[in-house]
Amino acid sequence: MVLADLGKSLTKAISSLSTSLTIDEKVLDECLKEICKALLQADVNVKQVSGLRNGIKKRVNIEQLAAGLNKQKVIEKAVFDELCDMLDSGVDPKKVELKKGKDKTSVVMFVGLQGSGKTTTCTKYAYYHKKKGWKPCLVCADTFRAGAFDQLKQNSTKAQIPFYGSYTESDPAVIAQQGVQRFREEGRDLIIVDTSGRHKQEAALFEEMRQVAAAVQPDLVIFVMDGSIGQAAFDQAKAFKDSVEVGAVIITKMDGHAKGGGALSAVSATHSPIIFLGTGEHMDQFESFETKRFVQRLLGRGDVSGLMEKIQDVIPEDKQPEMIENITKGNMSMRVMKDMFESVLEMGPMSQMMSMIPGFNSDLLPQGNDKNSQLMIKRYITIIESMTEKELDSTNIKMLQEQSRILRLARGSGRAPQEVVALLEAYKHYTKYASQALKAANLPKNMKNMK
Ligand code: GDP
Repeated sequence: MVLADLGKSLTKAISSLSTSLTIDEKVLDECLKEICKALLQADVNVKQVSGLRNGIKKRVNIEQLAAGLNKQKVIEKAVFDELCDMLDSGVDPKKVELKKGKDKTSVVMFVGLQGSGKTTTCTKYAYYHKKKGWKPCLVCADTFRAGAFDQLKQNSTKAQIPFYGSYTESDPAVIAQQGVQRFREEGRDLIIVDTSGRHKQEAALFEEMRQVAAAVQPDLVIFVMDGSIGQAAFDQAKAFKDSVEVGAVIITKMDGHAKGGGALSAVSATHSPIIFLGTGEHMDQFESFETKRFVQRLLGRGDVSGLMEKIQDVIPEDKQPEMIENITKGNMSMRVMKDMFESVLEMGPMSQMMSMIPGFNSDLLPQGNDKNSQLMIKRYITIIESMTEKELDSTNIKMLQEQSRILRLARGSGRAPQEVVALLEAYKHYTKYASQALKAANLPKNMKNMK
């Protein structure tokens, strides 16, 4: 089960409560059964699933819930809190956040098995920080894999990030030390050290990691794990954690077919926070991870902060406050909706982006791949483009839904009337949920202050 499916199953289980006339112990048990089934299918460990079930039961005492209380809301909140607890490492991610300081250099060492996406992630991490004003650089301390040096060099050249490595030196600890020293002298403030992920023996791999760590004295060790490894995740994460001082985790390959549950839940058991997710092969397919945001998105409630972070990258700063204000007030015109769609198209993988938009849950997305989602958004934009100025600025959904108008818009855009109806339906959901979510998020007017 891929992650989007997990979200869908969880949402379905919870929303099934709304169709029950009364919510009693039996209905709750049925809902919990569905939730547990979905989590197990997503590779979450049996013990954790049973812990989550008991946790929810403890939080929701059906018999004692006061009459008049919205039971579905209480259950929904308990599911949300328990999922957050399950993914919470107990360590505040802020503790492992790099601190920028004058004359301060942070050294970050990456560890993980070969093929986990470690080298790709080193560059993504460097690029992410470069965009935030850091002066990152990369050191290749992987002497085991022949292509590692070239791969990292190629990536760093593409991202225009300085690089250090050697074709001749065979001791990874020596290369790492030399590279770190060189970049310290050059005044770089973030030095990223990539290490080997494979050895003939596991013991030798861990020994090498310890030697590199001793040579470079990292401020942070990041463990990179493939999101699709399922139940094996726990043992793998634990083995790394026991060998080096892992401070944080990045899970890769959360796009595509990753079930994710195994990796996500395993790291919480090893007391290291997940700080980023890799969501594709490209440099910018990299998202900061925050448990509550992630669970919100999983349950189809959108991820406003994540979306805003992305929007910051593509919408001119002077347009941002106006856009936020309009959305918060629920006064979103079709013109703003079009802006939003266009930004989303620029931002990268559609399903990821759309899942961040509150109210745009998976049911409003076409099934299938990103291409379908992109196509759907493009069609919506075509329909919006055939609207009159008055329609574009209107926030009156009833007026927009007039039969004759729908038919005219369909003719004008060359699309089917059903597609116009679907757009208006999406618009209705979007304005409602986005406004609610933004109000709840209490965002500052200027998104620059969001961090
Ligand atoms: P390493 O051996 O751990 O250094 O792994 P690499 O960085 O060489 O990555 C192994 C493969 O995984 C490469 O083909 C990468 O392009 C791919 N990869 C890395 N991260 C991601 C990701 O987040 N999503 C997807 N789809 N592929 C990834």
